[in-house]
Amino acid sequence: MSDALVEELRRALGERGVLVSPADRVRFETGWRYGKGVARCVARPASTAEVAATLQLAARHGARVVAQGANSGLVAASTPDLSGTMLVLSLERLNQTIDLDPHGRTVLVDGGVLLSQLNEALAPHGFWFPVDLGADPQIGGMVATNTGGTRLLKYGDVRHNLLGVEVVLGDGRVLSLLNTLRKNNTGLDAKQLFVGTTGVFGVVTRAVLQVAPVPKQRAVALVACDGGDAVLDLLRAVEAELGDVLSAFEVMSANALGPVFAHQPNLRRPFAELPPYSVLVELSSTLPPATLHLENALEACLGAHLERAGEHVLDVLVGKGEEFWQMRHHISESLRSEGKMLAFDVSVPRSRLPAFTAAVGKLLAEDHPQVRLCDYGHWGDGGTHLNLLWRETDVADSAALVRELQSRIYDLAVRDFAGSYSAEHGVGPHNQAFYDRYTDAQVKALCGVLGQFCDPAGRLGTVRLRGQ
Ligand SMILES: Cc1cc2nc3c(=O)[nH]c(=O)nc-3n(C[C@H](O)[C@H](O)[C@H](O)COP(=O)(O)OP(=O)(O)OC[C@H]3O[C@@H](n4cnc5c(N)ncnc54)[C@H](O)[C@@H]3O)c2cc1C
Repeated sequence: MSDALVEELRRALGERGVLVSPADRVRFETGWRYGKGVARCVARPASTAEVAATLQLAARHGARVVAQGANSGLVAASTPDLSGTMLVLSLERLNQTIDLDPHGRTVLVDGGVLLSQLNEALAPHGFWFPVDLGADPQIGGMVATNTGGTRLLKYGDVRHNLLGVEVVLGDGRVLSLLNTLRKNNTGLDAKQLFVGTTGVFGVVTRAVLQVAPVPKQRAVALVACDGGDAVLDLLRAVEAELGDVLSAFEVMSANALGPVFAHQPNLRRPFAELPPYSVLVELSSTLPPATLHLENALEACLGAHLERAGEHVLDVLVGKGEEFWQMRHHISESLRSEGKMLAFDVSVPRSRLPAFTAAVGKLLAEDHPQVRLCDYGHWGDGGTHLNLLWRETDVADSAALVRELQSRIYDLAVRDFAGSYSAEHGVGPHNQAFYDRYTDAQVKALCGVLGQFCDPAGRLGTVRLRGQ
């Protein structure tokens, strides 16, 4: 049966701009970790005008639309629902512009440009976009999810580095906010509406980012700590002495790190016996080693701390940065190979991370001793990935256990520890119920007012920020 919307999209975007067959659609219908749906078709506009035309046509036909970047999001927000009526609007062909202003240290970039593509273009000029993570998202997707990375401690998240955006609103109006200024206090900073709001207020077609000079040197150490309090003491010591050049502080529990060596045979255990926590400390600087030798500075700082901390710091290894980062980046997939995994991306005030982690451990020990707590994460910014593992054969009803643990652990994080149920992955169908539970009613009402302006018919995205 012919579909009038598909035919009109073909006329507006050309044959390459519309994918209809199930084989062509399939990669747009399945999310990285969660989310599986069926699309009516996939529209692939190659310019802002084509994005506007796509949204105008969708509006005329009353079709709902989900924007999609590199589809690396982890909350099921980038894939269509199961109705078969939604349009996927992929930005992958809107990826031509990377316009660097080296003196301004800013870059104008199309929403569909991949992070790796941007960094390749910036490298010859001595710059990079320092929101750094283990996936390769598009810039528009990064704005929509306000991506944070492993170096957030030094560089901040996307919001911190975003100067301007161009967006197409739900009915096809184009809103150009391509500010390139760092200082501009002239009323409402409207671009913030589109940061971290998962594309429900508009489709990001271009962005102005501030970029950073590529560091000339890095130094990395792995520090063995006997518990969470020792980790916080270490963080305090490193920040006090080397805070200007500290770029990452990643914490890995023994339960999280152990499986890496079982599943990645090329990686070797750094310590004969894994300590309760192994902490990756990274320094980086644009200064040359002749001016400040980072590895020496790191060694001196950690050596002095080892003396002071007594038995709480068990060992310090300096160097082998590449290997230590490999361990960190392989945790998630290694844990997945071990059995049923339930992942949490939560944050609490960082001084409360040890108490929070202990409270989760106590809950599991008392009520579900068959569940293993494998925690790791960006303790420098209060983020922790609590991954819970169990063998399917040990649990009668895994789905019921997932529901119970999500509810209790998110309550613990948000209500008892003043934290967040989604530290960096944003909001999507995967955690919509918890957005509904924890978001202030006034904030939902405000989203309703903003949504009325940006997307009057409420057809963008699969998330309901306005509430029910
Ligand atoms: C291995 C791995 C490691 C990760 N590590 C981190 C990490 O350290 N920190 C972190 O924050 N995240 C991390 N993530 C999550 C993910 O990479 C980020 O959320 C990413 O920014 C999503 O970008 P994307 O282009 O893939 O967007 P998608 O997944 O395609 O979409 C995500 C959301 O943004 C919307 N969207 C996409 N493009 C646009 C657009 N142009 N305009 C409007 N809305 C749009 C979608 O509708 C959806 O709601 C990781 C993911 C993986 C798989």
